[in-house]
Amino acid sequence: MKVFKKLSIKEIKVKADNVRKDVVTVSGRNGAGHIAPSLSSIDILVSLYYGIMNLSSDAEWGKRDRLIFSKAHGCYGLYSILADIGYIEKKDWEEFYKESFLSGCVERNIEVGIEAGCGSLGHGIPLAVGIAFGAKLQKKTYRVYCVVGDGEMQEGSNWEAIQFAVKYKLSNLTIIVDNNQLQAMDFLINIMTLENRKNDLMVKMKAFGLDVMECNGHNSKEMIHIIDQWINRSKNIEKPQVLIAKTIKGYGLICMENDPKFHFRIPTEEELHMGKRYE
Ligand SMILES: [Mg+2]
Repeated sequence: MKVFKKLSIKEIKVKADNVRKDVVTVSGRNGAGHIAPSLSSIDILVSLYYGIMNLSSDAEWGKRDRLIFSKAHGCYGLYSILADIGYIEKKDWEEFYKESFLSGCVERNIEVGIEAGCGSLGHGIPLAVGIAFGAKLQKKTYRVYCVVGDGEMQEGSNWEAIQFAVKYKLSNLTIIVDNNQLQAMDFLINIMTLENRKNDLMVKMKAFGLDVMECNGHNSKEMIHIIDQWINRSKNIEKPQVLIAKTIKGYGLICMENDPKFHFRIPTEEELHMGKRYE
């Protein structure tokens, strides 16, 4: 078993571009439509996997940090990363949506490094809180990360779990909200977010007692810096943390960025010619 070393910011940026390219290629070829929600969270996932989490070549290593990927349909970047680090076979990712065991929404499979099935959205935080609470009771040193979509924060069970996490001082838990301001095929502001209230999510998170920070969700350096600081202070802080990562749905493909119609849609050749943000 080999413990993975953390990559430099420069190397992480290269990884992120490779994952974007890989996701667009595989999903376009195989007809998998959740490209835009996947592109939204790639920089978050790449920062976690290559710059923050303690992981090894053994996906079931007891000391591994746990990741709960709550926005389960936006999992293409996660699958690409799992193939890159060797937890799944490359051919299983390349055959995704064709001849592969990988499902459209993440399903629990600890052997390949997927900690929880989150196909019904809005329940990743409760799962992460349970795992973080268990780690605390057992005096385990691993940390728990939960990547959650901003739309699924409407689900009540998330807020029940956050109350529990604050009450039991789960400083080993970091929630990262992929805050792309879109939910399925509409903008959050048209669905649930309170109009005329700036930073609605941050106001609620602070009111519930979390340690809250906001950042650019496509800037790995910024995300890693904030989370590293939380890790370094975790023995002295008694709060779970939430990072509100400002993202762009469809980030990387110009035709797709911030366009609600691309929630589950594969771009045409003509649309792809509008350009991309990666090599
Ligand atoms: Mg969203």
